[in-house]
Amino acid sequence: MVSFCLAAAVVASGLSPSLSPSRGGGTAFTIVHLSDVHIRMRFDAPARLRLALRAVRRLAPELVINSGDTLDGPMDTIDGTLDFEAKWSAWNEAVSRELRSLPLLNALGNHDLDEPLSLADSCRRLGMPGPYYARDHRGWRFLVLNSNGFERDTRQWDWLVSQLRTTPAATPIAIVSHHPIFSMGALVDGGGELIGRWRDLVALFAKHRNVKLCLSGHTHLADLCRYNGVTYACGGSVSGYWWEIEKSSDGKGSYLQTPPGFHVIRLSASGVVDVEYRRYEDPATR
Ligand SMILES: [Zn+2]
Repeated sequence: MVSFCLAAAVVASGLSPSLSPSRGGGTAFTIVHLSDVHIRMRFDAPARLRLALRAVRRLAPELVINSGDTLDGPMDTIDGTLDFEAKWSAWNEAVSRELRSLPLLNALGNHDLDEPLSLADSCRRLGMPGPYYARDHRGWRFLVLNSNGFERDTRQWDWLVSQLRTTPAATPIAIVSHHPIFSMGALVDGGGELIGRWRDLVALFAKHRNVKLCLSGHTHLADLCRYNGVTYACGGSVSGYWWEIEKSSDGKGSYLQTPPGFHVIRLSASGVVDVEYRRYEDPATR
């Protein structure tokens, strides 16, 4: 068994080390993976989110994946007033004006279910067909999980097993979850909080060699691991230190070693070509 891991090590340019685990095999295409937007009405977050999504659009990706915590939690209020409606509006406006017609797959984060948010309402507002779902794009199958309470969700587990069993072996599969399945950054982040049954998932993927990529968020740390032929990419965060510059580790918006940014990923028919974490241009974080 061969495995290796590259930790985040994001350098001053905002670029992380690239990983080229399985080059070749068909025309490569670009997707963007963003996570942990934590949209808030303070800290000029709505306008800064638009800068991030504008940078995404300029890359002309085939697909954009958001691995959750789109909204910030209930403790984040304005003068004690819950402002979820304003946050949803800010998110929708940023997506419609900046991403425009780019296909967008959303996953649920833990904060997307903070009361008074509900599972059904958050799915609806994020345009999701359900809390977990499959979507095919450019010959890949994307399986979007609901990692909240995953360890107790036997229906979802059975659905995932069925998807893996029925997907043709020649079809590469990407898994999307908010909580990481495998992550070095989760260790750095105070012991980390992985998805429930992560060991079972790692073992399950070993039986289905067409599982090539797992995307996640939650830690706000960008890291890249490769284990048993699967690339595990934890996507840092768009919000960095939850949009707060003063509390950030470097005075430029970073959480620990990871600045605000997103993953730019190249895929081909045979697997993951390249993963790169990029900072986006934001005058507030210069
Ligand atoms: Zn989270």
